[in-house]
Amino acid sequence: MEAEIITIGDELLIGQTIDTNSAYFGQQLGAIGISISRKTAVSDKEAAILGALTEAFSRVELVIMTGGLGPTKDDITKKTLCQYYGCGYRRDEDVLNHLEGLFASRGRLMLETNRVQADVPALCETLHNAVGTAPGMWFDTNGKVLVSLPGVPGEVYHLTEERVVPRLKSKFPLPTVEHRTLVTLQKAESLLSRQLESFEASLPAHLSLAYLPSFNQVKLRLSQVSPSSASTKDIDTYFQQLQEVIQEDVFCLGDIDPALFLSNYLIKNNITFTTAESCTGGWVAHRLMQAPGISAVYPGSLVAYANEVKQTELGIDDRVLAEFGAVSEPCALAMAEGALKKFQVDLAIATTGIAGPGGGTKEKPVGLVYIAVATKHEQFCKPFRLFGHREQIIQRSSNAALWMVKQVLKMPPDSVV
Ligand code: AMP
Ligand code: MG
Repeated sequence: MEAEIITIGDELLIGQTIDTNSAYFGQQLGAIGISISRKTAVSDKEAAILGALTEAFSRVELVIMTGGLGPTKDDITKKTLCQYYGCGYRRDEDVLNHLEGLFASRGRLMLETNRVQADVPALCETLHNAVGTAPGMWFDTNGKVLVSLPGVPGEVYHLTEERVVPRLKSKFPLPTVEHRTLVTLQKAESLLSRQLESFEASLPAHLSLAYLPSFNQVKLRLSQVSPSSASTKDIDTYFQQLQEVIQEDVFCLGDIDPALFLSNYLIKNNITFTTAESCTGGWVAHRLMQAPGISAVYPGSLVAYANEVKQTELGIDDRVLAEFGAVSEPCALAMAEGALKKFQVDLAIATTGIAGPGGGTKEKPVGLVYIAVATKHEQFCKPFRLFGHREQIIQRSSNAALWMVKQVLKMPPDSVV
């Protein structure tokens, strides 16, 4: 089944507010087997809203609309919907009671402009908005459903999950949609897709594989869209096959940030760690901080940017810097070893490289990053040739660091979550 989205608001068109609601609808509706075939953003003008609505209903039977339901004069969605459906207003007693309760509990004076929020187009059913003042509205005429929601994202989430999704599921016969996701690091999308050619060719029609690349990371999402009667165990069989084909390239299973996966692994296995970061400026540490409970295995980190800091805080020998330079394998290894001793931990990660845009040379170009990992027994270092602008190189370096740690610890992809 297909649906369209209409977002309303001048602020969306001038770029003052980023339209996050559409992306959210795409996720929520996709999860119940409704695909979004088009989204349209319009200004707070009657003609624009009416035009968008008429066009959308010429193509699909379900339209989700957001915005323009505030109590102020610039919000005209309700008035426009009365016009579209050729109806007047009715005062909704449930909404009025909710508003009175809300204002009383907040000790705020209720004005007529607030009371007017209980006036809705006579043809709609209201969807109770427990977290705000504007109700959602559900119109169902001649088999065509319009859902109109306020613009405030928190209210959109509440109304969608608590009211809209359950209603859509009971109104329309929808297929079952299931996803299985895994994350790979350090392998190009094109190489993965070559490796997976025959796997993809073997997929039955109700299964599909999507590649979601970002910064030396590719998420692979296997999706199954099946009619409600079909078996759902196929997807697990094929997901297992997918893992067998790309084996050691799988960093972790699940739709999860690989840094969070790694931090959970370190916590679970009680592996204490630190980072000594030059070109990543603390970004590796920052990403590994996401897991609650990380303090059990993480005492702190050092951002060692200048040579003097590398020398005084990590004990890097002058000769290493003089002979090989700060962006070198010996320096990265010495940083990791220095950090291991300084923080008395099981594992240290060091990064040193040229994030650009300046500072590159022929021998050491922008994007050359050395990453070292030291444990009490071993030290490893690897040069990476990364590309992109400064922030991208930093992000790619942090993914390379996660990948290095996985290799050193021989971390299995499914040990946590
Ligand atoms: P409204 O319902 O038009 O009064 O919008 C209330 C608030 O929600 C405003 O601050 C808008 O900027 C915000 N908003 C409206 N539409 C969207 C959208 N599509 N995505 C994210 N925020 C939005
Ligand atoms: Mg608005």
